[in-house]
Order: sequence, then C-alpha cells, then structure tokens
Amino acid sequence: HKFHPCDEAVIATNDDASDCKRCAVRLGYWKDDYIGYFVRNQERKAPEINRGYFARVKGVEMCVDKFLKKTGGNCQIINLGCGFDTLYFRQDTAHQVKNFIELDFPTVTARKCYTIKRNKALLARINAEDGEVRLSPTDLHGPNYHLMGVDLRNLDEVDSKLAQAEVDYTLPTIFLAECVLVYIEAQNCHNLLKWIAQKFKSAVFVNYEQVNMNDRFGEVMLNNLRSRGCSLAGVESCLSLETQTNRFKDCGWSGARAWDMVQVYESISAAERQRIERLEMLDEGELLLQLFQHYCLAVAWLGVDFQDLDITCV
Ligand code: SAM
Repeated sequence: HKFHPCDEAVIATNDDASDCKRCAVRLGYWKDDYIGYFVRNQERKAPEINRGYFARVKGVEMCVDKFLKKTGGNCQIINLGCGFDTLYFRQDTAHQVKNFIELDFPTVTARKCYTIKRNKALLARINAEDGEVRLSPTDLHGPNYHLMGVDLRNLDEVDSKLAQAEVDYTLPTIFLAECVLVYIEAQNCHNLLKWIAQKFKSAVFVNYEQVNMNDRFGEVMLNNLRSRGCSLAGVESCLSLETQTNRFKDCGWSGARAWDMVQVYESISAAERQRIERLEMLDEGELLLQLFQHYCLAVAWLGVDFQDLDITCV
C-alpha cells in the first residue's frame, strides 16, 4: 500500500487518541479492561483533555446504547476509522450485536490485528461463541467481529470489504466516526456518505468531531493539527452545527441533528458528572469550556425508525 505523507500523519492521530483514552481510563474516568493491551504509553494528559475524552466516549456510547435498546441488538455496528477503539471488547451489549465491523487504514488494522492475535483475553472475547477466527496481516474475522484494512476514500474497496464481513444491508446499522471525516477530502466524504445512504435501508450515523472552526480558538486547533502534517481536507464541514448536519442531508440522509459537547456533557447523568469531576482538579474551567464548544456530536438517520435518537432527552 502506498500512502501520501499526510496519510502517515493522519494515521498517527490514532496513537494520540489511544494514548489519551488510556490515560483517562487509568485515572478512572471510565472502565476499559482492554485499551491497555493496545497502548504502552503511560504519559499523563491534562485534566481538560481527560474530561474531553470522557465526554466523547460517553456521548458516542449514549447514542449506541439508545440504538441497541431500540433494535434489541438485532443490528450491526460499523466503526469507520476505528483506530484502537475498544467498544466491541469492553461493552457487553455492543459485543452481542449481529455484526461488528471495524475499518481503518491497513497500517492501523495490521497493528490492531497483531495485538489481538497475541493476546488471549482479546482473542477470547472475539471467539466467545466458539466460532473460528480467521486472520491475515491486516484483516481479522471472528463470528461477529470483522476488522479490516481499507482506505475509506475507495468505495469499491469498502464495498468488497463489507461483503467479506457478510454485512447485511437490510439490517439496522449504526455507523460510528470519531474524529475521522475531518481528514477525508470533502468530495470523497460526500461520496462515502451518499454511498451508505443508497446501500443501507435503515441506519444511523454518529459523527464526533470538530465544530465552530472559524473562530480564533478553532484556528489554533487547526494549526496545531496542520503543524503535525495532517491535511484536514474535510474541515469545511466543521464550521458550524449546521454544516455538520447539512452534509448528511446533502448526501441523501433523511435527517440529522447536532449538539456541541457542552450540551452533550450536560446530558450525562449528574451523578456520573460529579463522580468524574472529583477525579482531578481543573485549574480553570475556561479551557474545558472552549474545548467543549469546539467539538460536537452529530446524529443522522436513514428512514423513519431512528429519527428520535436524541441523546439529550432521557
Ligand atoms: N476513531 C478512533 C478513536 O476515536 O479512537 C481513532 C481516531 S484517529 C483521530 C482517526 C482515525 O481515522 C485514524 O485511525 C486514521 O487512520 C483513520 N482514517 C482517517 N482517514 C482514513 C481513511 N481515508 N481510510 C481509513 N481510515 C482513515
């Protein structure tokens, strides 16, 4: 596989995300017995970063939980740009869905495969229903878990990988993309979202990423990513909550809603917020507020089954 230099930088963003998740887990923000297998780094992150990741992981999980409740588990989860995310391993209900598919660049999935292959706890989790695990250097297939290397900009390849994973286009499906679409060129992203909308009958798309990128703080965030060599080719959809939702409607999705992370954080139960707010002192709340204002969760739906998947009402 050949990569642009900027693909390498994008691939490296996964290490960053995984390090941050590992750190927050170690400090007790949420429980994850598996992330430690994928990440060696023990570096401590700033409290604002940890709280930011807590809101991110909880926000996505709230959407997944609502979807799983509604479908009773008779559904699929497709994690786009999955990195070393551990949702399949750590969460029982997500683990029990009909099919859990993870896609990322082959460089990333090869590392994830390698780690899974040599770890009994991870393997056991995939193999639970005494099925067989099939492996190649970049792909792994279990009874209901498929991890595959693919460039999401290449739809023919995505199509054939999903076929290998025995995807069911008629089954309700939830797509997850955590800080992924921003790295994909607008036209490619448009094609991907449109393709999904045409292929799947009933689906939800949960997108977590940057928003309000056209103010001073947004500019600093973007410059920071650019200085690491990331192309941020999809940043034009990260200007506002409206651009974040319109992109789905423009691609044939039935509807979409988006919340900034201030709203998402407030929708987490008060008890849970109090628990994590006691874990670490914040020097000043201003930076966290700024961070929360510059990330969002967008939920789009296809068809009518999931139009009320609103995380802000319990
Ligand atoms: N979603 C994971 C998480 O939140 O922990 C990883 C996030 S990381 C910031 C972005 C991920 O998107 C990387 O793993 C990167 O390789 C993947 N990615 C970006 N562009 C991609 C593309 N065109 N095809 C496949 N994966 C891509």
